[in-house]
Amino acid sequence: MALTQTTLNIRGTFCIETIPKPASFIIFGASGDLTHRKLIPSLFFLYQKALLSEHFYIHGCARTQMDDEKFRASFFDKLKESLGKSSDTKASGNTVKSFLNRCFYIAGDYNSENLYINIKNRLVELDKKFQKEKNHIFYLATPPSLYIPIVQHLGKSGLSDTPPNAGAFRRPHGERGRTCIIVEKPFGRDLESARKLDSELKKVSKEEQIYRIDHYLGKETVQNILLFRFANSIFEPIWNRRYIDNIQITVAELLGVEHRAGYFEQAGLLRDMFQNHMLQMLSLVAMEPPISFDANRVRDEKVKLLRAITPIQPHEIRDRVIRAQYGKGTIEGREVPAYRDEKGVAPDSTVETYVAMKLSIDNWRWQGVPFYLRAGKRLAKKSSKIVITFKNVPHSMFQPLRPEDLEPNILIFHVQPEEGISLRILAKRPGPKLCMDTLEMVFRYSDVIEGELPDAYERLLLDCMLGDQTLFIRNDDMEVSWSLITPIAEVFEDKSKASLAGTLHIYPAGSWGPVATEELLQKDGRSWVRI
Ligand code: NDP
Repeated sequence: MALTQTTLNIRGTFCIETIPKPASFIIFGASGDLTHRKLIPSLFFLYQKALLSEHFYIHGCARTQMDDEKFRASFFDKLKESLGKSSDTKASGNTVKSFLNRCFYIAGDYNSENLYINIKNRLVELDKKFQKEKNHIFYLATPPSLYIPIVQHLGKSGLSDTPPNAGAFRRPHGERGRTCIIVEKPFGRDLESARKLDSELKKVSKEEQIYRIDHYLGKETVQNILLFRFANSIFEPIWNRRYIDNIQITVAELLGVEHRAGYFEQAGLLRDMFQNHMLQMLSLVAMEPPISFDANRVRDEKVKLLRAITPIQPHEIRDRVIRAQYGKGTIEGREVPAYRDEKGVAPDSTVETYVAMKLSIDNWRWQGVPFYLRAGKRLAKKSSKIVITFKNVPHSMFQPLRPEDLEPNILIFHVQPEEGISLRILAKRPGPKLCMDTLEMVFRYSDVIEGELPDAYERLLLDCMLGDQTLFIRNDDMEVSWSLITPIAEVFEDKSKASLAGTLHIYPAGSWGPVATEELLQKDGRSWVRI
């Protein structure tokens, strides 16, 4: 029970924000869900907050036949609505219109050379009108099977204009002719395919022009892990095996497979969540302090940490990895079908929608500290949290209570929803007797920030325009992550290795996953912290 809540006031704000040089976004997959829900709204909010250069423009393409006007109209209502009911209707309509007047569209098939010729001609025209610098950001927001053909065409058509040794790309960011490519997740489906995609990208661009997105890195609380650990002096001395008992990372979704069955049947939850989001959060929580907040210094430390994770061997999978699939159940009072009954899913599918695993990190700081990771669809609630459980006190002066009777301190990073940080401590309950209770000190962003937090994509798109790769995945990071996950994914899929993979558990939709997940921790004398 919480005795009280403490809200922190943000004093002495220190902000660094730079407006990028003029740039244009060329979005492949411009009629799709990601473009509509995330990319265009995020660019619009940057525009509205005056964080975009005046001289930007957006150019979309996809197969759907549309002209510029129809493309703009597909966003108008949503963007206007996003400004809120309280804003002046005429003024907000004008803001949306002036933003959309910078949006253009071409229809075509990504496998057709003509599309790239048309795009090139259009960019020449638009660059003349909007930005003479010719800074082009290509965004791959199509099904992943199209990434390689698009990249090859970008090279062939000269749009990427990046012979690997071109001196032009050594110039400081923002000078004439900067080109970069943003690649949406998933980046490959295993180590081999990720390397293949990477080698095609490297034929047309350099590493510093490639922005591999993991949108979790753009989330406020995830970024805050770095500030929390390295801008405060009180946490780092206890951030190690002497004081921390275990770390738990949970990404629980209420949603099922939705309209993505085709993709999910090929990927499964392990590939979809662990290779990227889960390992990224783990690396930020556990890495050593970088020497500076520079993209490569931060990423050096992340990669070093990932390399220290002890790979799970095939014969250990049964004991250390739990895989499961949702059955039918109830979500928010509504009956929902089992995964195998979802549209587009094979009736005998063995694809996992839930994974829990225990990882260990083989280095001085974390020796012996277990990291428990779990992620799944159709769980009891939407909740992403990183939970740090500290060790019990070494001695109890509150006899007859023993040290293990006193609840340990627990620090939680609330990644989503209700972004914030909380700390559970023991405290005296006011009154004549000596009663102890758990006190939860809570910091919620919503208490100190007016309105909604910026979407992760706003941060990431802005950083890309600024040429800052800190929150993007470097190639070695991507390779180490895939090398940890690929062998497990292969055992899951290979029917001849079913005995190594262990049981595919079925859990009711709306639950916290299979019972086996509890047993994973019980074996170690621990349990999942209730979140
Ligand atoms: P959608 O299926 O909604 O959109 C795909 C887009 O690609 C559409 O614009 C479609 O256009 C276009 N497209 C498909 N095939 C072709 C083709 N042969 N030629 C031309 N255009 C084509 O997918 P999403 O927007 O959901 O996802 C896009 C990418 O982003 C995927 O890689 C996904 O994994 C990733 N992603 C998506 C997230 C999301 O929230 N949606 C979150 C994280 C990652 P048309 O229909 O006009 O042919």
